[in-house]
Amino acid sequence: MQALVVTPGEPHSVRVAEHPVEAAESAVLVRTLEVGVCGTDREISEGIFGVAPGDERALVLGHELLGVVERDGHGFSRGDLVTATVRRSCRRCVACEEGAPDSCLTGDYSERGITRLHGFARELVAEDPAQLVPIPRALGRLGVVAEPASICARALRHARAIGNRQPWRAERALVIGAGAIGMLVTYLLRLEGLDVWTAALDPPGSPRARLVEASGARYVASRETPLEDLRDEVGGFDLVVEAAGDAQVMAATLGLLRRSGVACLLGIDPRERTVELDGPTIGLDAVLENRVLFGSVNAHREDWVAAVDGLARARERWPEALERFVTLRVPLDRFGEAFEHRGVKATLVLGETGGAR
Ligand SMILES: [Zn+2]
Ligand SMILES: [Zn+2]
Repeated sequence: MQALVVTPGEPHSVRVAEHPVEAAESAVLVRTLEVGVCGTDREISEGIFGVAPGDERALVLGHELLGVVERDGHGFSRGDLVTATVRRSCRRCVACEEGAPDSCLTGDYSERGITRLHGFARELVAEDPAQLVPIPRALGRLGVVAEPASICARALRHARAIGNRQPWRAERALVIGAGAIGMLVTYLLRLEGLDVWTAALDPPGSPRARLVEASGARYVASRETPLEDLRDEVGGFDLVVEAAGDAQVMAATLGLLRRSGVACLLGIDPRERTVELDGPTIGLDAVLENRVLFGSVNAHREDWVAAVDGLARARERWPEALERFVTLRVPLDRFGEAFEHRGVKATLVLGETGGAR
């Protein structure tokens, strides 16, 4: 069958190639409908990330799955829409033993389409039923953003847990970055009723700005309005989420919080450099105002379930806006366009849902 494969460590080796169909006795056979493409896939394609399974040389890409169950079994019926978790247990740490590989303590986990496990960018996948997450029919093709939404759901669950260690009410949130993660966080926070400001580089009135505003959040063009000015204007934020992937911006989030505020880092910035942080912000304000800065990666199964539920509720509330989340859909052989795409989300389409939108 056809698959999108890469030779990890070899830049620009992504190609469509033949890949064998796996045996599926104790697994659920899933037909891939669509896979989302994100920064992780781009990094793998540039050779800076990714590990092939066992002694194989190639890795099948794709960790953001929307699929359809191919035949009945293991509690699933033919035609069920599903997605699947990405990270799998290292089998030897307390977090993984408790079913929380998102909190793995060894780093020896495997990840679909990223590390030591083939991904979903192929026609058929034999998947462990315990790793499948049902997608309601009503969500349809929007189920393809369940994976990035699960990252957001985990981040918000952790932010609430940290904030709620003391009496706290989150009212004002700032989201920095309006890619898929920033956009999904914006919508999930609006669902919870927070006042949300979402900042990105695009000018006011751009498609990205309009998609932010369709949720009732305010769009901030950060080239025109420095975030420190915004902080002074609104009086600081209870929650700041960095989804732009800039270490300097990440450091500065600590200074954008108000009392008991929580800043969550979701972007990635591996550039070798030193960033600046205002002395009194960390040496005084962070202490006297009980502020926290934390990072979050991956998602627990409960976050996947919460993400799918959040997407379904968001789609009911803003149906027209949610249709604009995926900004490019192309077939597998046009993967180059999806990798180049700079809109909110690009996907590779492998099959039709049959009735679902
Ligand atoms: Zn991704
Ligand atoms: Zn582990």
